Amino acid sequence: MTAKIIDGKSLAAQIREEVKSEVEKLKSEKGIVPGLGVILVGENPASKVYVRNKARACEHVGIYSETIKLHEDISEEELLNNVDKLNNREDIHGILVQLPLPEHINSEKILFAISPDKDVDGFHPINVGKLTTGEETFYPCTPSGIIEIIKRQGIEIKGKEAVIIGRSNIVGKPVAFLLLHNHATVTICHSRTVDLPKVAKRADILIAAVGKPLLVTDEYVKPGAIVIDVGINRIKKEDASEELLNWRKDAFEKRGSTLVGDVDFLKVKEIAGYLTPVPGGVGPLTVAMLMKNTLLSAKRFAQVK
Ligand code: NAD
Repeated sequence: MTAKIIDGKSLAAQIREEVKSEVEKLKSEKGIVPGLGVILVGENPASKVYVRNKARACEHVGIYSETIKLHEDISEEELLNNVDKLNNREDIHGILVQLPLPEHINSEKILFAISPDKDVDGFHPINVGKLTTGEETFYPCTPSGIIEIIKRQGIEIKGKEAVIIGRSNIVGKPVAFLLLHNHATVTICHSRTVDLPKVAKRADILIAAVGKPLLVTDEYVKPGAIVIDVGINRIKKEDASEELLNWRKDAFEKRGSTLVGDVDFLKVKEIAGYLTPVPGGVGPLTVAMLMKNTLLSAKRFAQVK
C-alpha cells in the first residue's frame, strides 16, 4: 500500500478562504473587522518568521493585525501592561504572545494575564479547563488543525483507536481531549511508555508529537492507518543519513539542512493509508486555525452565531 500524502498547504488555503468569506460577511452585516494583537519580545529569528507569517495570513483573510514589538530587556510589569492594553481594546478580539519569552520573564504569568475571552491560542487555564470538560472555547491551533486534517479526509473519528506519542500541554494532551470529544478511544504515549511500537501499532489514527527525527518507523504503523506527523526537526547535512541526503538533495544544496518530522516518511508511506509530510503537513494548518479562532472571537464579541 502507498499512503495518500495529505497536502496541508491546500487544506490551510481552503480554511483561509472559508474564514475570508465569513470575515467579509461580518464586515458587511455588522461593520466589525476581527482584530489580532501579537506581542513579540526580542529578536528571536524563528519567532520573527512565525509572527510575520501570522500577519500575512491576517492580511489575506481581511483580519486587522497589529504586532507590538518590545525590547528583550522589557520588565515583566511593562509586558503585563501591554497585555492589559490589548485586553481593553475593542478593536482587538484575539491576543497572542509569541513564545519563547526571555528568561527573566515568567511566561505562565504573562499567558494567564491574557483575557480568556481573547485567548485565541487556547493556553489560558480557563480555556484548558473548558477543553477538558468539552465546553465550547478556543482550542489550541495545532491540535484543532490536526482534527481538521482528519475530518477533511472524510475519516470518521468515532470509535477509532487513536494513539498519540507525546504528552505536551500544547500538542499531545489537547489533541487527546479533542479526539476523545470526537468519540475516539485514546491512548497517550510518552518517553516512559513500554514497547512503544506495539502500542502505536494499535492505532487507526497515529499522531507523533515528540521532536525526535524519524522516530516512527513502519514497525509502529498498522497497515492503512492515518499517520499525522507534528514533529519539526532540522537536520544538518553532516548529520544526515545517505538516504536522507539523496531524498532531500535540493534542500541540502540550498540551505545545508532540511526539515524532517518524527515519522520516517519513506518507510511509513509504504504501509500507512494517509500520511502528512514535513514540511507542508500540519504546520500550515496551525496558522489557518489561528485565523479561525480570531474570527470566532470577533463573532462572539458581536454575538453572531
Ligand atoms: P515537547 O518537547 O513539549 O513534548 C515532547 C513529548 O514527547 C513529551 O511529552 C515526551 O514525553 C515525549 N517523548 C520524548 N521522547 C520520547 C520518546 N523517545 N518516545 C516517546 N515519547 C517521547 O514537544 P511539543 O511542544 O509537543 O512538540 C513536539 C514536536 O512538534 C516538536 O518537534 C515541535 O517542534 C513540533 N510542533 C509542531 C507544531 C506545528 O505547527 N507543526 C506545533 C507545535 C509543535
